[in-house]
Amino acid sequence: MSRLVVVSNRVGIPDGSARAGGLEVSIRPALKKRGGIWFGWSGKVAEERTGAAKTVEHDKVSYITIDLLKGDYEEFYNGFANRVLWPILHYRLDLAEFTRRDLGGYFRVNQYFVENLERVLRPDDVIWVHDYHLMPLAQILRERGHKNRIGFFLHIPCPPPEILTGLPNHERLIPALCHYDLVGFQTENDANNFSRYLANEVGLRRAGDDGFYYEDRVVHIGIFPVGVETEAFTRLARRAISTQFVSDVMASMSDRALIIGVDRLDYSKGIPERLNAYERFLANFPDWRGLVTYLQITPRSRTDIREYADIGRLVGETVGRINGTFGEASWTPLRYINKAHSRSSLAGLYRYARVGLVTPLRDGMNLVAKEFIAAQDPDDPGVLVLSRFAGAARECSAALLVNPYDSEGVAIAINRALGMPLEERRMRHQANYAALTRNDLTQWAERFLGRLEEHVPAETETR
Ligand code: UDP
Repeated sequence: MSRLVVVSNRVGIPDGSARAGGLEVSIRPALKKRGGIWFGWSGKVAEERTGAAKTVEHDKVSYITIDLLKGDYEEFYNGFANRVLWPILHYRLDLAEFTRRDLGGYFRVNQYFVENLERVLRPDDVIWVHDYHLMPLAQILRERGHKNRIGFFLHIPCPPPEILTGLPNHERLIPALCHYDLVGFQTENDANNFSRYLANEVGLRRAGDDGFYYEDRVVHIGIFPVGVETEAFTRLARRAISTQFVSDVMASMSDRALIIGVDRLDYSKGIPERLNAYERFLANFPDWRGLVTYLQITPRSRTDIREYADIGRLVGETVGRINGTFGEASWTPLRYINKAHSRSSLAGLYRYARVGLVTPLRDGMNLVAKEFIAAQDPDDPGVLVLSRFAGAARECSAALLVNPYDSEGVAIAINRALGMPLEERRMRHQANYAALTRNDLTQWAERFLGRLEEHVPAETETR
């Protein structure tokens, strides 16, 4: 079995410094099984390029990290990746702030990744690149003569060609993905949008059901929705419900029904729209006033970027308005917290909550939605209100699906969720839970790598 080399912007070094995220949990078993390398940015900004990568060995895996310069960090990370690619791939052309300088920084850092990576590459390594920070990586590797199997997975959405073509220099960036042997997406919608772009904008010819001919090679396209470790999360929630933290929250609730939202402070998550919907709910369904508490946990994110400061201000103002308008001396309708919480604390809160509100305007998958389902007590489950524009809506179709732009519709869904009879709650939960177990996170990496290795190496593939 070939050695696996994972490349992503950030690396999940198991030294306790990073919080275990989904990517890390899902990739580590595959890395351990094959032995391999996880390569990426250390998260540190250095004064000058030393050219020295740092390696940490742990459990048959080498974690290799490089530092970025301040200019790299500004132009590559804060600049092109998060000010241009992130908004546009989330359908927000209006928020993109493109500069040629940042685009240059993006390619420069991708080149720097390759120069460091190739020092440790072997010809038969299988390379798996993750996410929008590193789209040109395969092209740069190919130009330098590397013939390895290389796969790419996009964790965030891929919009239709009508939006992709609004990305300045899309002709240089999007076709660069064709240098991968396999490009994976979260949903069918994302994969179809990419295929339409290749057919209509680049004029590529189809190769079988799942690929396109590109220059002297074939790029394959696959759908691999990211899951959660369903049963482990259920166990975590069952344990967490009796912790001091959750007991304290319960005690503070005075038997009111808990509505919960958990999102990074990001404009893609639809937080202002959701707050407006809650305001509508309180206005249109006054019987619930004093009987519910909405807890919105929202860690700050990418604070150097203006749009993130703007959304923070807007959310803060809206929270103030709602509590000012509907609050009583003895009741706060909305609790808003910017502190990050542990997965265990969140699991306990999800299990206790009656309603989970997950209403992004656009999201690649949304793991909070899946974790909320996994955390429920099957005998007395809470109800998930889920945006139809989250990737998770495909599998979790037994949730109450809503249009996050329709605040009245979301208000009606909140009312319906709170009043839903036990039988219906159980049926919906069972259906959603079954969907999660059919696509557990533990099989995700194996499925992607299995598909990548099904195809013959690029240089021997014929037209
Ligand atoms: N999360 C966490 N603590 C927090 C907020 C979120 O551990 O205070 C976790 C959450 O449980 C989930 C992940 O962060 O696993 C967020 O993933 P999701 O796909 O929902 O959104 P993203 O932030 O990746 O856009």
